[in-house]
Amino acid sequence: MFRNSVVTRTGQAWKLWLSIMVMLLGSFAPLWDGSGINWTMGTVLMLAGYAFGVWFIVCPECRRRWFWSAALNAELYGPLFKQPVCPHCQRKFAAR
Ligand SMILES: [Zn+2]
Repeated sequence: MFRNSVVTRTGQAWKLWLSIMVMLLGSFAPLWDGSGINWTMGTVLMLAGYAFGVWFIVCPECRRRWFWSAALNAELYGPLFKQPVCPHCQRKFAAR
């Protein structure tokens, strides 16, 4: 999935999935009484998941935080998932 994504090609897809999974857990776990996660904890999980992705998914070349850049400029989300090129330094990453 997303083989041409710069995130996948730099070996950081697991960080993206972890970030998404933690955000989903924070969003939906509070809906079930048995989960032991209340809305406050769910909100903290959401923010932690988001912060993890924004903070730790970086360009190995120029060290830019891709999802922080995309949070400021939503046009960058497309290129991050579809192109094997860093939107900042234009470094192209080979398939693994
Ligand atoms: Zn770069």
